[in-house]
Amino acid sequence: MVTTSRPVWENQSPAHICPFDQACSYLEWAAKELKLDSGLLEILSHPRKVVTVSIPVKMDNGEVRVLAGHRVQHSDILGPYKGGIRYHPAVTLREVSALAMLMTWKCALLGIPYGGAKGGIPIDPKKYSVGELERISRRYISELIKDIGPSVDIPAPDMGTSAREMAWMMDTYSVNVGHAVPGVVTGKPLSIGGSLGREMATGRGVMIVVREALADQGKSLADVKIAIQGFGNVGGAAAELLHQAGAKIIAVSGGAGGIYAENGLDIPAVKAYAAQNHRSVVGYPQATAISNADLLTLPCDVLIPAALENQITEENVDHIQARIVAEAANGPVTLEANRVLEARGVTVLPDILANAGGVVVSYLEWVQGLSYLFWDEEKVNREMENLMVNAYRKVIQQAQKRQVNLRLAAYTLGVGRVAQALNDRGLYP
Ligand code: NAD
Repeated sequence: MVTTSRPVWENQSPAHICPFDQACSYLEWAAKELKLDSGLLEILSHPRKVVTVSIPVKMDNGEVRVLAGHRVQHSDILGPYKGGIRYHPAVTLREVSALAMLMTWKCALLGIPYGGAKGGIPIDPKKYSVGELERISRRYISELIKDIGPSVDIPAPDMGTSAREMAWMMDTYSVNVGHAVPGVVTGKPLSIGGSLGREMATGRGVMIVVREALADQGKSLADVKIAIQGFGNVGGAAAELLHQAGAKIIAVSGGAGGIYAENGLDIPAVKAYAAQNHRSVVGYPQATAISNADLLTLPCDVLIPAALENQITEENVDHIQARIVAEAANGPVTLEANRVLEARGVTVLPDILANAGGVVVSYLEWVQGLSYLFWDEEKVNREMENLMVNAYRKVIQQAQKRQVNLRLAAYTLGVGRVAQALNDRGLYP
Protein backbone atom coordinates (compact mmCIF):
# COMPACT_ATOMS: atom_id res chain seq x y z
CA MET A 1 0.00 0.00 0.00
CA VAL A 2 1.14 3.56 -0.77
CA THR A 3 1.81 5.43 2.47
CA THR A 4 2.26 9.11 3.14
CA SER A 5 3.61 11.28 5.91
CA ARG A 6 1.03 12.38 8.48
CA PRO A 7 0.41 15.88 9.81
CA VAL A 8 2.23 16.31 13.12
CA TRP A 9 0.07 16.91 16.18
CA GLU A 10 -0.49 15.46 19.55
CA ASN A 11 -2.29 12.13 19.44
CA GLN A 12 -5.43 12.99 21.32
CA SER A 13 -7.66 10.22 20.03
CA PRO A 14 -9.01 8.10 22.88
CA ALA A 15 -10.21 5.29 20.59
CA HIS A 16 -7.93 2.41 19.61
CA ILE A 17 -8.75 3.12 15.97
CA CYS A 18 -7.34 6.54 15.07
CA PRO A 19 -9.99 8.15 12.82
CA PHE A 20 -7.45 10.22 10.90
CA ASP A 21 -5.25 7.21 10.16
CA GLN A 22 -8.37 5.39 9.01
CA ALA A 23 -9.32 8.29 6.70
CA CYS A 24 -5.77 8.30 5.27
CA SER A 25 -5.97 4.53 4.71
CA TYR A 26 -9.09 5.05 2.60
CA LEU A 27 -7.36 7.81 0.65
CA GLU A 28 -4.26 5.66 0.08
CA TRP A 29 -6.48 2.77 -1.01
CA ALA A 30 -8.21 4.99 -3.60
CA ALA A 31 -4.86 6.53 -4.67
CA LYS A 32 -3.43 3.08 -5.32
CA GLU A 33 -6.44 2.10 -7.43
CA LEU A 34 -6.17 5.39 -9.37
CA LYS A 35 -2.35 5.11 -9.64
CA LEU A 36 -2.22 8.65 -8.30
CA ASP A 37 1.01 10.62 -8.42
CA SER A 38 2.75 10.43 -5.01
CA GLY A 39 3.05 14.25 -4.77
CA LEU A 40 -0.70 14.68 -5.26
CA LEU A 41 -1.35 12.02 -2.64
CA GLU A 42 0.99 13.76 -0.22
CA ILE A 43 -0.93 17.04 -0.65
CA LEU A 44 -4.34 15.40 -0.26
CA SER A 45 -3.20 13.60 2.92
CA HIS A 46 -2.77 16.92 4.75
CA PRO A 47 -5.50 19.32 5.82
CA ARG A 48 -4.83 22.78 4.39
CA LYS A 49 -5.57 24.54 7.68
CA VAL A 50 -6.04 23.31 11.26
CA VAL A 51 -7.37 25.80 13.80
CA THR A 52 -7.92 25.28 17.53
CA VAL A 53 -9.32 28.16 19.53
CA SER A 54 -9.94 28.70 23.24
CA ILE A 55 -13.55 29.42 24.14
CA PRO A 56 -13.87 31.15 27.50
CA VAL A 57 -17.45 30.86 28.72
CA LYS A 58 -19.24 32.18 31.78
CA MET A 59 -21.44 29.41 33.19
CA ASP A 60 -24.85 30.17 34.69
CA ASN A 61 -23.37 29.83 38.21
CA GLY A 62 -20.77 32.54 37.50
CA GLU A 63 -17.84 30.10 37.07
CA VAL A 64 -15.61 30.66 34.00
CA ARG A 65 -14.57 27.63 31.94
CA VAL A 66 -12.32 27.51 28.89
CA LEU A 67 -13.28 25.00 26.19
CA ALA A 68 -11.37 23.99 23.06
CA GLY A 69 -12.97 24.52 19.65
CA HIS A 70 -11.59 23.00 16.46
CA ARG A 71 -12.08 23.78 12.78
CA VAL A 72 -10.16 21.80 10.18
CA GLN A 73 -10.20 22.87 6.52
CA HIS A 74 -9.03 19.96 4.42
CA SER A 75 -9.26 21.17 0.82
CA ASP A 76 -10.74 24.09 -1.11
CA ILE A 77 -9.60 22.91 -4.52
CA LEU A 78 -13.18 22.66 -5.83
CA GLY A 79 -14.77 25.56 -3.92
CA PRO A 80 -15.37 26.99 -0.43
CA TYR A 81 -14.86 24.68 2.54
CA LYS A 82 -18.07 23.02 3.75
CA GLY A 83 -18.72 20.89 6.81
CA GLY A 84 -20.66 20.44 10.01
CA ILE A 85 -19.94 21.46 13.58
CA ARG A 86 -20.17 18.69 16.16
CA TYR A 87 -20.80 19.05 19.90
CA HIS A 88 -19.95 15.69 21.46
CA PRO A 89 -17.65 14.65 24.35
CA ALA A 90 -15.62 12.35 22.05
CA VAL A 91 -14.61 15.15 19.64
CA THR A 92 -10.83 15.28 19.05
CA LEU A 93 -8.69 17.16 16.57
CA ARG A 94 -7.92 13.89 14.82
CA GLU A 95 -11.59 12.99 14.49
CA VAL A 96 -12.43 16.46 13.15
CA SER A 97 -9.53 16.18 10.66
CA ALA A 98 -10.76 12.80 9.46
CA LEU A 99 -14.30 14.10 9.00
CA ALA A 100 -12.99 17.18 7.12
CA MET A 101 -11.19 14.90 4.66
CA LEU A 102 -14.32 12.80 4.25
CA MET A 103 -16.28 15.96 3.37
CA THR A 104 -13.83 16.74 0.54
CA TRP A 105 -14.47 13.38 -1.13
CA LYS A 106 -18.22 13.55 -0.44
CA CYS A 107 -18.70 16.96 -2.10
CA ALA A 108 -16.54 15.90 -5.06
CA LEU A 109 -18.47 12.63 -5.43
CA LEU A 110 -21.80 14.47 -5.48
CA GLY A 111 -20.45 16.99 -8.02
CA ILE A 112 -21.09 20.01 -5.80
CA PRO A 113 -18.55 22.88 -5.86
CA TYR A 114 -17.25 22.67 -2.30
CA GLY A 115 -14.15 21.54 -0.47
CA GLY A 116 -14.20 19.72 2.85
CA ALA A 117 -14.07 21.01 6.43
CA LYS A 118 -15.32 20.04 9.86
CA GLY A 119 -15.54 21.63 13.29
CA GLY A 120 -16.22 20.50 16.79
CA ILE A 121 -16.23 21.23 20.49
CA PRO A 122 -15.67 18.33 22.94
CA ILE A 123 -18.76 18.87 25.14
CA ASP A 124 -21.93 17.00 25.98
CA PRO A 125 -24.53 19.63 25.03
CA LYS A 126 -27.10 17.99 27.32
CA LYS A 127 -24.99 19.12 30.29
CA TYR A 128 -25.20 22.81 29.38
CA SER A 129 -28.12 25.24 29.63
CA VAL A 130 -29.48 26.92 26.49
CA GLY A 131 -27.85 30.19 27.59
CA GLU A 132 -24.47 28.50 28.08
CA LEU A 133 -24.73 26.80 24.66
CA GLU A 134 -25.53 30.13 23.05
CA ARG A 135 -22.48 31.80 24.65
CA ILE A 136 -20.26 28.86 23.63
CA SER A 137 -21.53 28.88 20.02
CA ARG A 138 -21.20 32.65 19.64
CA ARG A 139 -17.67 32.82 21.10
CA TYR A 140 -16.53 29.83 19.00
CA ILE A 141 -17.70 31.47 15.76
CA SER A 142 -16.34 34.85 16.81
CA GLU A 143 -12.89 33.27 17.36
CA LEU A 144 -13.12 31.78 13.84
CA ILE A 145 -14.46 34.94 12.18
CA LYS A 146 -11.47 35.38 9.82
CA ASP A 147 -11.54 31.74 8.76
CA ILE A 148 -15.18 31.42 7.71
CA GLY A 149 -17.54 33.23 5.32
CA PRO A 150 -19.99 32.50 2.48
CA SER A 151 -17.20 32.11 -0.09
CA VAL A 152 -14.56 30.83 2.37
CA ASP A 153 -15.96 28.20 4.74
CA ILE A 154 -19.63 27.47 5.40
CA PRO A 155 -20.46 25.51 8.60
CA ALA A 156 -23.60 23.37 9.05
CA PRO A 157 -25.15 21.26 11.84
CA ASP A 158 -23.75 17.88 12.85
CA MET A 159 -24.12 15.71 15.97
CA GLY A 160 -25.24 17.79 18.91
CA THR A 161 -25.98 20.94 16.88
CA SER A 162 -29.06 22.04 14.94
CA ALA A 163 -30.77 25.01 13.26
CA ARG A 164 -30.72 26.79 16.64
CA GLU A 165 -26.89 26.85 16.83
CA MET A 166 -26.68 27.83 13.13
CA ALA A 167 -28.93 30.85 13.82
CA TRP A 168 -26.65 31.99 16.69
CA MET A 169 -23.60 31.52 14.46
CA MET A 170 -25.14 33.38 11.50
CA ASP A 171 -26.13 36.23 13.83
CA THR A 172 -22.66 36.44 15.43
CA TYR A 173 -20.93 36.54 12.05
CA SER A 174 -23.43 39.09 10.67
CA VAL A 175 -23.15 41.40 13.69
CA ASN A 176 -19.34 41.29 13.42
CA VAL A 177 -19.25 42.16 9.71
CA GLY A 178 -22.06 44.73 10.02
CA HIS A 179 -24.76 43.25 7.78
CA ALA A 180 -26.86 40.07 7.46
CA VAL A 181 -24.91 37.24 5.84
CA PRO A 182 -27.27 34.26 5.51
CA GLY A 183 -24.81 32.35 3.30
CA VAL A 184 -22.25 31.94 6.10
CA VAL A 185 -23.96 28.80 7.46
CA THR A 186 -26.48 26.29 6.15
CA GLY A 187 -29.07 24.30 8.06
CA LYS A 188 -30.49 27.61 9.36
CA PRO A 189 -34.09 28.23 10.42
CA LEU A 190 -36.41 29.12 7.50
CA SER A 191 -36.96 32.61 8.96
CA ILE A 192 -33.35 33.61 8.17
CA GLY A 193 -32.82 31.94 4.80
CA GLY A 194 -32.91 28.23 5.59
CA SER A 195 -34.15 25.84 2.92
CA LEU A 196 -37.33 23.83 2.96
CA GLY A 197 -36.39 20.14 3.07
CA ARG A 198 -33.06 20.67 4.90
CA GLU A 199 -34.18 19.14 8.21
CA MET A 200 -35.07 15.80 6.65
CA ALA A 201 -32.39 15.93 3.93
CA THR A 202 -29.77 13.51 5.26
CA GLY A 203 -32.44 10.98 6.21
CA ARG A 204 -34.11 11.44 2.81
CA GLY A 205 -30.78 10.80 1.07
CA VAL A 206 -30.37 7.58 3.09
CA MET A 207 -33.88 6.52 2.07
CA ILE A 208 -33.10 7.22 -1.62
CA VAL A 209 -29.89 5.16 -1.76
CA VAL A 210 -31.44 2.26 0.19
CA ARG A 211 -34.43 2.33 -2.20
CA GLU A 212 -32.10 2.32 -5.24
CA ALA A 213 -29.96 -0.51 -3.84
CA LEU A 214 -33.07 -2.59 -3.14
CA ALA A 215 -34.41 -1.88 -6.65
CA ASP A 216 -31.12 -3.20 -8.08
CA GLN A 217 -31.81 -6.41 -6.15
CA GLY A 218 -35.39 -6.58 -7.49
CA LYS A 219 -36.92 -5.54 -4.14
CA SER A 220 -38.83 -2.54 -2.83
CA LEU A 221 -38.93 -0.77 0.52
CA ALA A 222 -42.28 -2.44 1.25
CA ASP A 223 -40.52 -5.84 1.23
CA VAL A 224 -37.94 -5.19 3.94
CA LYS A 225 -37.26 -5.04 7.67
CA ILE A 226 -34.89 -2.29 8.78
CA ALA A 227 -32.96 -1.62 12.03
CA ILE A 228 -31.66 1.90 12.69
CA GLN A 229 -29.02 2.81 15.28
CA GLY A 230 -29.43 6.47 16.31
CA PHE A 231 -32.70 8.38 16.37
CA GLY A 232 -31.45 11.96 15.97
CA ASN A 233 -31.40 14.31 12.95
CA VAL A 234 -30.40 11.55 10.56
CA GLY A 235 -31.72 8.30 12.09
CA GLY A 236 -35.05 9.88 13.09
CA ALA A 237 -35.68 11.36 9.63
CA ALA A 238 -34.60 8.15 7.86
CA ALA A 239 -36.93 6.12 10.11
CA GLU A 240 -39.86 8.43 9.37
CA LEU A 241 -39.37 8.49 5.59
CA LEU A 242 -38.67 4.76 5.29
CA HIS A 243 -41.74 4.02 7.42
CA GLN A 244 -43.83 6.31 5.18
CA ALA A 245 -42.48 4.45 2.13
CA GLY A 246 -43.78 1.16 3.53
CA ALA A 247 -40.67 -0.38 5.12
CA LYS A 248 -40.96 -2.14 8.50
CA ILE A 249 -38.69 -0.38 10.99
CA ILE A 250 -38.15 -3.14 13.55
CA ALA A 251 -35.69 -1.35 15.84
CA VAL A 252 -34.36 2.11 16.66
CA SER A 253 -32.00 3.34 19.37
CA GLY A 254 -30.39 6.36 20.98
CA GLY A 255 -27.42 6.78 23.31
CA ALA A 256 -29.40 5.38 26.28
CA GLY A 257 -30.50 2.18 24.46
CA GLY A 258 -33.02 0.96 21.94
CA ILE A 259 -36.38 -0.67 21.28
CA TYR A 260 -37.38 -3.64 19.11
CA ALA A 261 -40.69 -4.87 17.68
CA GLU A 262 -40.48 -7.82 15.31
CA ASN A 263 -43.56 -6.70 13.32
CA GLY A 264 -42.45 -3.10 12.97
CA LEU A 265 -42.62 0.05 15.09
CA ASP A 266 -45.20 2.81 14.70
CA ILE A 267 -42.53 5.45 13.96
CA PRO A 268 -44.74 8.58 14.37
CA ALA A 269 -45.77 7.23 17.80
CA VAL A 270 -42.12 6.51 18.71
CA LYS A 271 -41.17 10.05 17.63
CA ALA A 272 -43.95 11.54 19.73
CA TYR A 273 -42.82 9.40 22.70
CA ALA A 274 -39.15 10.46 22.29
CA ALA A 275 -40.18 14.14 22.08
CA GLN A 276 -41.77 13.80 25.54
CA ASN A 277 -38.89 11.69 26.93
CA HIS A 278 -35.76 13.88 26.52
CA ARG A 279 -35.30 12.52 22.95
CA SER A 280 -34.88 8.94 24.22
CA VAL A 281 -36.87 5.97 22.90
CA VAL A 282 -36.16 3.90 26.03
CA GLY A 283 -39.36 2.87 27.80
CA TYR A 284 -41.59 3.10 24.71
CA PRO A 285 -44.41 0.76 25.73
CA GLN A 286 -45.21 -1.25 22.55
CA ALA A 287 -41.70 -2.70 22.14
CA THR A 288 -38.94 -4.73 23.82
CA ALA A 289 -35.88 -2.96 25.24
CA ILE A 290 -32.56 -3.78 23.52
CA SER A 291 -29.01 -2.49 23.75
CA ASN A 292 -27.27 -0.58 20.96
CA ALA A 293 -24.95 -3.54 20.46
CA ASP A 294 -27.89 -5.98 20.12
CA LEU A 295 -29.62 -3.73 17.60
CA LEU A 296 -26.73 -4.14 15.17
CA THR A 297 -27.01 -7.92 15.08
CA LEU A 298 -30.81 -8.25 14.78
CA PRO A 299 -32.25 -10.35 11.94
CA CYS A 300 -33.15 -7.67 9.35
CA ASP A 301 -32.68 -6.90 5.64
CA VAL A 302 -31.22 -3.42 6.00
CA LEU A 303 -29.09 -2.05 8.83
CA ILE A 304 -28.65 1.72 9.13
CA PRO A 305 -25.99 2.85 11.64
CA ALA A 306 -26.90 6.54 12.12
CA ALA A 307 -25.03 7.47 15.31
CA LEU A 308 -21.27 7.17 15.79
CA GLU A 309 -18.08 5.92 14.12
CA ASN A 310 -16.66 2.41 14.45
CA GLN A 311 -19.85 0.59 15.38
CA ILE A 312 -19.37 -2.44 13.09
CA THR A 313 -15.89 -3.81 13.71
CA GLU A 314 -14.00 -7.10 13.53
CA GLU A 315 -15.52 -7.90 16.92
CA ASN A 316 -19.18 -7.93 15.87
CA VAL A 317 -19.10 -8.20 12.07
CA ASP A 318 -19.65 -11.97 12.05
CA HIS A 319 -22.97 -11.43 13.82
CA ILE A 320 -24.36 -8.84 11.39
CA GLN A 321 -27.35 -10.39 9.62
CA ALA A 322 -28.45 -7.56 7.30
CA ARG A 323 -27.87 -7.89 3.53
CA ILE A 324 -27.57 -4.12 3.03
CA VAL A 325 -25.70 -1.80 5.44
CA ALA A 326 -26.28 1.91 4.75
CA GLU A 327 -23.71 4.12 6.48
CA ALA A 328 -25.89 7.03 7.58
CA ALA A 329 -23.30 8.00 10.21
CA ASN A 330 -19.75 8.87 9.20
CA GLY A 331 -17.41 5.88 9.40
CA PRO A 332 -19.63 3.40 11.30
CA VAL A 333 -18.08 0.36 9.53
CA THR A 334 -14.32 -0.18 9.90
CA LEU A 335 -12.20 -1.09 6.88
CA GLU A 336 -11.65 -4.63 8.20
CA ALA A 337 -15.37 -5.15 8.91
CA ASN A 338 -16.17 -3.81 5.44
CA ARG A 339 -13.89 -6.48 3.92
CA VAL A 340 -15.67 -9.24 5.86
CA LEU A 341 -19.12 -7.97 4.85
CA GLU A 342 -18.03 -7.68 1.22
CA ALA A 343 -16.72 -11.25 1.22
CA ARG A 344 -20.13 -12.36 2.49
CA GLY A 345 -21.87 -10.49 -0.37
CA VAL A 346 -23.36 -7.80 1.89
CA THR A 347 -23.89 -4.46 0.12
CA VAL A 348 -22.27 -1.63 2.10
CA LEU A 349 -23.50 1.78 0.94
CA PRO A 350 -20.56 4.00 1.94
CA ASP A 351 -21.00 7.11 4.08
CA ILE A 352 -19.74 9.56 1.48
CA LEU A 353 -22.67 8.50 -0.68
CA ALA A 354 -25.33 7.36 1.82
CA ASN A 355 -25.31 10.43 4.09
CA ALA A 356 -24.66 13.05 1.39
CA GLY A 357 -28.30 14.26 1.32
CA GLY A 358 -27.52 16.83 4.02
CA VAL A 359 -24.67 18.51 2.20
CA VAL A 360 -26.62 18.39 -1.06
CA VAL A 361 -29.52 20.37 0.45
CA SER A 362 -27.00 22.62 2.24
CA TYR A 363 -25.63 23.38 -1.21
CA LEU A 364 -29.17 24.05 -2.49
CA GLU A 365 -29.77 26.33 0.53
CA TRP A 366 -26.57 28.26 -0.24
CA VAL A 367 -27.51 28.58 -3.94
CA GLN A 368 -31.00 29.87 -3.01
CA GLY A 369 -29.44 32.35 -0.56
CA LEU A 370 -26.88 33.64 -3.09
CA SER A 371 -29.56 34.06 -5.77
CA TYR A 372 -32.15 35.54 -3.34
CA LEU A 373 -34.70 33.13 -4.83
CA PHE A 374 -36.27 30.50 -2.60
CA TRP A 375 -37.83 27.29 -3.88
CA ASP A 376 -40.78 25.21 -2.68
CA GLU A 377 -40.08 21.92 -0.91
CA GLU A 378 -41.01 19.84 -3.93
CA LYS A 379 -38.34 21.53 -6.05
CA VAL A 380 -35.70 21.15 -3.31
CA ASN A 381 -36.50 17.44 -2.92
CA ARG A 382 -36.53 16.91 -6.70
CA GLU A 383 -33.13 18.58 -7.21
CA MET A 384 -31.70 16.61 -4.29
CA GLU A 385 -33.14 13.33 -5.54
CA ASN A 386 -31.55 13.93 -8.97
CA LEU A 387 -28.11 14.56 -7.47
CA MET A 388 -28.36 11.55 -5.11
CA VAL A 389 -29.61 9.08 -7.73
CA ASN A 390 -27.04 10.33 -10.21
CA ALA A 391 -24.22 9.82 -7.68
CA TYR A 392 -25.55 6.36 -6.72
CA ARG A 393 -25.62 5.30 -10.41
CA LYS A 394 -22.09 6.63 -10.99
CA VAL A 395 -20.82 4.66 -7.98
CA ILE A 396 -22.46 1.46 -9.26
CA GLN A 397 -20.98 2.00 -12.75
CA GLN A 398 -17.54 2.72 -11.30
CA ALA A 399 -17.72 -0.44 -9.16
CA GLN A 400 -18.57 -2.50 -12.25
CA LYS A 401 -15.96 -0.82 -14.44
CA ARG A 402 -13.12 -1.20 -11.94
CA GLN A 403 -14.39 -4.42 -10.34
CA VAL A 404 -14.19 -2.89 -6.85
CA ASN A 405 -16.60 -2.56 -3.94
CA LEU A 406 -18.92 0.43 -3.56
CA ARG A 407 -16.70 2.19 -1.01
CA LEU A 408 -13.65 2.09 -3.25
CA ALA A 409 -15.81 3.07 -6.23
CA ALA A 410 -17.13 6.11 -4.33
CA TYR A 411 -13.66 7.07 -3.10
CA THR A 412 -12.05 6.75 -6.52
CA LEU A 413 -14.73 9.05 -7.96
CA GLY A 414 -14.37 11.65 -5.16
CA VAL A 415 -10.58 11.52 -4.84
CA GLY A 416 -10.15 11.30 -8.62
CA ARG A 417 -12.17 14.48 -9.18
CA VAL A 418 -10.18 16.46 -6.59
CA ALA A 419 -6.84 15.11 -7.88
CA GLN A 420 -7.80 16.11 -11.43
CA ALA A 421 -8.67 19.65 -10.30
CA LEU A 422 -5.44 19.91 -8.29
CA ASN A 423 -3.49 18.77 -11.29
CA ASP A 424 -5.26 21.26 -13.57
CA ARG A 425 -4.84 24.17 -11.14
CA GLY A 426 -1.17 23.33 -10.54
CA LEU A 427 0.93 23.84 -7.43
CA TYR A 428 1.48 27.42 -6.28
CA PRO A 429 4.12 28.92 -6.44
P1 NAD B 1 -27.80 13.71 16.46
O1 NAD B 1 -27.05 14.26 17.59
O2 NAD B 1 -29.02 14.41 15.99
O3 NAD B 1 -28.24 12.19 16.76
C1 NAD B 1 -27.32 11.20 17.15
C2 NAD B 1 -28.08 10.00 17.65
O4 NAD B 1 -27.13 9.02 18.08
C3 NAD B 1 -29.00 10.28 18.84
O5 NAD B 1 -30.17 9.50 18.71
C4 NAD B 1 -28.14 9.80 20.01
O6 NAD B 1 -28.96 9.42 21.11
C5 NAD B 1 -27.47 8.61 19.38
N1 NAD B 1 -26.26 8.20 20.10
C6 NAD B 1 -25.38 8.96 20.79
N2 NAD B 1 -24.43 8.19 21.35
C7 NAD B 1 -24.71 6.92 20.99
C8 NAD B 1 -24.11 5.67 21.26
N3 NAD B 1 -23.03 5.56 22.03
N4 NAD B 1 -24.69 4.57 20.72
C9 NAD B 1 -25.78 4.68 19.95
N5 NAD B 1 -26.41 5.82 19.68
C10 NAD B 1 -25.87 6.92 20.19
O7 NAD B 1 -26.72 13.54 15.26
P2 NAD B 1 -27.00 13.40 13.71
O8 NAD B 1 -26.93 14.76 13.11
O9 NAD B 1 -28.19 12.53 13.49
O10 NAD B 1 -25.66 12.66 13.24
C11 NAD B 1 -25.52 11.25 13.33
C12 NAD B 1 -24.40 10.81 12.41
O11 NAD B 1 -24.69 11.20 11.07
C13 NAD B 1 -23.03 11.42 12.71
O12 NAD B 1 -22.05 10.44 12.38
C14 NAD B 1 -22.94 12.57 11.75
O13 NAD B 1 -21.60 12.93 11.44
C15 NAD B 1 -23.61 11.96 10.55
N6 NAD B 1 -24.13 12.94 9.60
C16 NAD B 1 -25.04 13.88 9.97
C17 NAD B 1 -25.54 14.75 9.01
C18 NAD B 1 -26.61 15.75 9.35
O14 NAD B 1 -27.14 16.38 8.42
N7 NAD B 1 -27.03 15.90 10.59
C19 NAD B 1 -25.08 14.70 7.70
C20 NAD B 1 -24.13 13.72 7.36
C21 NAD B 1 -23.67 12.85 8.32
